Amino acid sequence: MSILTLNCGSSSVKYSVYDPEPKSFVCRGIVERVGLSGSFLRQQHGQAESRIERDCADHSAAVQLVLEVLTTGDSSPVRDVASIRAVGHRTVHGGEKFARSARVTPELVKTLDALSSLAPLHNPPNLAGIRAAQALLPDIPHVAVFDTAFHQTMPPEAYLYPLPYEWYERHGIRRYGFHGTSHLYVSKRAAVLLGRPYDTLRIVTLHVGNGASAAAVCCGRSVDTSMGFTPLEGLVMGTRCGWIDPAIPLFVMQAEGLDAAEMDRLLNKQSGLLGLTGRFSDRRDIEKAADEGDARCTHAIAIEALSLKKVIGAYAAAMGGLDCVVFTAGVGENSARIREKALSGLAFLGIHLDPAANEHARGGKAEARISRTDSPVRVLVIPTDEELVIAEDSLAILEGRFDAPDFDYSFD
Ligand code: AMP
Repeated sequence: MSILTLNCGSSSVKYSVYDPEPKSFVCRGIVERVGLSGSFLRQQHGQAESRIERDCADHSAAVQLVLEVLTTGDSSPVRDVASIRAVGHRTVHGGEKFARSARVTPELVKTLDALSSLAPLHNPPNLAGIRAAQALLPDIPHVAVFDTAFHQTMPPEAYLYPLPYEWYERHGIRRYGFHGTSHLYVSKRAAVLLGRPYDTLRIVTLHVGNGASAAAVCCGRSVDTSMGFTPLEGLVMGTRCGWIDPAIPLFVMQAEGLDAAEMDRLLNKQSGLLGLTGRFSDRRDIEKAADEGDARCTHAIAIEALSLKKVIGAYAAAMGGLDCVVFTAGVGENSARIREKALSGLAFLGIHLDPAANEHARGGKAEARISRTDSPVRVLVIPTDEELVIAEDSLAILEGRFDAPDFDYSFD
């Protein structure tokens, strides 16, 4: 039996095949340049890497190509289409409707359509993927797994903005938070690694990749998170500004005669570390340039680290204490320098880094403890695995276990 996971972006389809026995991924792949010329598929299946070039005019053609590649040949990852028993779809925005994953029904599709105005870049391609996969695999359950769902436990004081209340009522303007599947996975995994009950821990999870977000996970519930109404809010990111004075864009729009669409582009694509350095969003480039004496890159690293440090302090205060900090995603898993700078000076909170363990924890997708053994707050590096949550939720829904009161993940 296989579970297929799909993550459809505007011009890409990422996929994986999960085998519940023995709980492992058989293969992972991506179709790039969907809807553009020169589309191609790349796949990793065991030691074998393959690449197939074929134009895919839309998501339907891309999903069709994925199914063909998965089921063709003697040592194909999946014996035949019939052995795919469910499809899990990464879905960005579930609004206030979805606090957990849900089976795709015509009503869910309608709701997602309506939510597209909240996530115009993400929900339409997610929906296109759902429709394409349902057309090709009509007889099996399809499951939507939402980036926003894990954060639906936030209390009103964390999700309401100090703005006219009618905006919340009329337009749904509130903090939703994103990267929820990742925050769920790494926080649950942290409890396993610490050998402590999940519902007793106060954890700050830091998902630091090209996009970045933090979450306060208190006794198993997300109680605050740094991304907001959109993924633009919060930490300093590769090309997104994160927290700024909201008067700044208004000032620059007037001063330079820019319209809303142009400002949206500048804040999402030309700000963050790219804006600060003027050259790079990739932290490897920034660290290298800083080592070579580039002052703007040195400042950019310090600014990113300070934004992480401040969120750790804020969330420790919000939770009334702290047991564990988790770093994940491209930067969190690899950049010893950002981790060290973010955690320096936090001994007053009980955070004591082990410099050698921190240096050692990079690449290799390995889990590691990087705090000293006597540190009251444990600091962990945990490679995220959103696909695993998507596959496990889909499997649980397929097997009718998901709604049982004792449903939980065993990420051990
Ligand atoms: P993600 O969005 O999770 O794929 O993360 C992408 C980010 O991770 C990029 O900005 C990369 O520069 C960063 N990254 C990957 N490897 C390293 C590394 N060894 N050191 C610093 N940053 C890294």
